[in-house]
Amino acid sequence: MSQRVGGLATEKEARDVAEAARESEWSGPSFVRELFLGRFRLDLIYPHPPEDPDEAARAKPFLDKLEAFLHRVDSDMIDRTGEIPEAYVQELREMGAFGIKIPREYGGLGLSYSSYVKAMAMVTSKDGSITALLSAHQSIGLPQPLKLFGSEAQKQKYFPRLAKGAISAFALTEVDAGSDPANMHAHAEPTPDGKEFILNGEKLWCTNGTRAELFLVMARTPDVVVNGKPRKQITAFIVEAKWPGVEVVHRCRFMGLKAIENGLIRFTNVRIPRENILWGEGKGLKLALITLNTGRLTLPASAAGGSKALLQASRTWAAERVQWGAPIGKHEAVAQKVAMMAANTFAMESIAGLTVGLAERGNYDIRLEAAIAKMYNTEHGWRIVDDALQIRGGRGYETADSLRARGERPIPIERAMRDARINLIFEGSSEIMRLFIAREAVDHHFKTAFALVDKESSRAEKTAALGRVMKFYPAWYPARWVGKGQLPGSFGEFGTLAGHMRFAERHTRKLGRAIFHAMVRLGPKLERRQLVLFRAVDIGAELFAMTAACVRAQMLKQQGNEQAISLADLFCRAARVRVEQLFAGFYGNYDAEMYRVAQSVMRGEHAWMETGIIEMLEDHGTTAARTTASQEREVAQPV
Ligand SMILES: Cc1cc2nc3c(=O)[nH]c(=O)nc-3n(C[C@H](O)[C@H](O)[C@H](O)COP(=O)(O)OP(=O)(O)OC[C@H]3O[C@@H](n4cnc5c(N)ncnc54)[C@H](O)[C@@H]3O)c2cc1C
Repeated sequence: MSQRVGGLATEKEARDVAEAARESEWSGPSFVRELFLGRFRLDLIYPHPPEDPDEAARAKPFLDKLEAFLHRVDSDMIDRTGEIPEAYVQELREMGAFGIKIPREYGGLGLSYSSYVKAMAMVTSKDGSITALLSAHQSIGLPQPLKLFGSEAQKQKYFPRLAKGAISAFALTEVDAGSDPANMHAHAEPTPDGKEFILNGEKLWCTNGTRAELFLVMARTPDVVVNGKPRKQITAFIVEAKWPGVEVVHRCRFMGLKAIENGLIRFTNVRIPRENILWGEGKGLKLALITLNTGRLTLPASAAGGSKALLQASRTWAAERVQWGAPIGKHEAVAQKVAMMAANTFAMESIAGLTVGLAERGNYDIRLEAAIAKMYNTEHGWRIVDDALQIRGGRGYETADSLRARGERPIPIERAMRDARINLIFEGSSEIMRLFIAREAVDHHFKTAFALVDKESSRAEKTAALGRVMKFYPAWYPARWVGKGQLPGSFGEFGTLAGHMRFAERHTRKLGRAIFHAMVRLGPKLERRQLVLFRAVDIGAELFAMTAACVRAQMLKQQGNEQAISLADLFCRAARVRVEQLFAGFYGNYDAEMYRVAQSVMRGEHAWMETGIIEMLEDHGTTAARTTASQEREVAQPV
């Protein structure tokens, strides 16, 4: 019997819910999936999917309008006031920015995913709060899941409104359900005649929630019984903000993205017609996860767009700022930062561009590529903003308003840093991305062999597993020791990058072996060794990034741009060092010790160190704040 902890789901329940919602089938091949199996399937991503010139021509008028608009936007004012003026929102509506991917027959611009992410990258280079507004609506808000899962009637009903700028929001997170949706409390009960559902619950940090006309709400619906056991059901509902019982309880404010329209939303006895279920009863979590899998393509492109703007500001400053008799960019410590910013930005754009290109080409399952792109680009983007701030020195730490007030160029690195940090947390935190990727990375081995090492499996299950093992491993394992990357001259078409491709091929096989060895060595315990799994994920991510950078540099070279080769080369040199280090410490030299110390620290056994400080945990008027919040609740108007 599973035990509940303080009303929260147990680890097993959490895992069962996540497994039930997982996409167990692959809709097409995947370079990264093969990579974790030790197979370097370059043919899946090379040559780089070409840009469609017709689509580029179709997107141009909109992108030009958007660019002209962004030049006029006062982002320091938005940051200072914490509001995006209605006039800006209206202008975005009029140019079609809320319906970029909505098909033309429903009133949208009907542009492709790549045009959409191009637009988002451009917006991010100027204003993170506007990115949040447009992206929460189109990457995860109603248009995307409606396109994927909506009935024709639902599309006819909602697309035209959404395209005109009826803002939507995606409501999954709750106070107890952050990374773990099994803790969801919001619930919708069917009425006795089954025609409606009555929704109750609260959704936290719902972006656009304070301004939305439409919500996509994930809520629990009655459990179903599977094999004699109750199974939790989560269903996705389209909810109108104007319906009785929908209430904005609180507008949340953050470190960055100051004008994000994000709130705590309460639903009290909200009556939802059955036809407002999206996809089907009980399919809500799967819908949310699939939506996030594709929606996740926006953040990697945005992170690359932001990094390009930071690179431009940094290289200009490094060339013009003279200290100690030379431009600071001539001092090696600053020069290496500029170089790695350029090389990493190139790799980030390669990863984002390749992944979107593969998604559009079709017949390709991009979930792993998209997850790596999200994790890798947001983490590298964060390092780039940190380096940009360091290069700008004190001016990096100063606000744009303050710089302007004393007559200096108001380069908003300080704001960029505040805005960028959340990228590592929302739409799947870095840790959850690594867990997700790791789960898929070991999937084939688990499916084939897990029953053999699992103490709980029956004799019949073990026999079946043995059959699978005998069929797969005798051919697969020896083949992981020999490959093209061992041949001097192979991948010759990549010219100076050929050595990096050979490295990627060899280390892909090594990764496949390492994951297999880890499974044999650790058995079911591997599931709990997050750091080992995460190192495997990080190696896979580096190999994917290297390959993406080389493949794109090769495409650019063929288009007459030779300079990209040096960026891909530098990126690969650095990535190779990281890969070697990750392999060298694959099992961790002190993982167990860290875990032991962490538990001891959490038990308070080292609280003796915490003297001479003012505690952050001190109650700084929480009681008063609670009163204010509850007073606000009383006066809060239905949206
Ligand atoms: C500005 C902002 C906008 C947002 N917009 C939306 C939105 O529009 N819609 C929506 O539904 N939600 C939204 N969210 C919620 C966001 O997606 C969550 O913050 C995110 O899912 C993480 O949940 P949490 O913050 O509760 O962290 P927790 O789940 O409490 O996790 C805390 C930390 O523990 C780590 N962690 C958790 N579980 C594990 C594990 N098993 N193994 C290892 N590490 C683990 C996490 O990675 C994290 O570092 C938003 C949040 C913010 C701050």
